[in-house]
Amino acid sequence: MSRIRAAFWDPAGTRYGIPTYPWRMSPPHLLTRRQLTAEGLRPGGQGVQAQVMWRSTRHSAPGVRSAYLYDIRFALPKRTATPAQMEALAKANAARRTCPDCHRDAGYVLPRHLGTCLDCAETAEVAA
Ligand SMILES: [Zn+2]
Repeated sequence: MSRIRAAFWDPAGTRYGIPTYPWRMSPPHLLTRRQLTAEGLRPGGQGVQAQVMWRSTRHSAPGVRSAYLYDIRFALPKRTATPAQMEALAKANAARRTCPDCHRDAGYVLPRHLGTCLDCAETAEVAA
């Protein structure tokens, strides 16, 4: 094991506070969030279990990098929205785009501070 790798070899977490492994040396059941996502999983409320640390030689941002790892055994399936949920979301978003004054779908989410579409807000401002 090279000296750099040895510096990041801390499975007990005595040096870094949490179990730490060098690049490509973490146990197979510990995955990053992205790796879990690729498996259709999410951390599922578990905290960070460990980390991978490596020395980056990337020219723009050299230095020590780390990535948090989660235990696949505690991971849960990703939740996908049900058709009813999708419908409710679409409805809620449509309501956010609909102007209460002219009752038209403005095509954008109405600014909260105006409460109306930009056309109505402008008309009201001119009238005032
Ligand atoms: Zn309007």
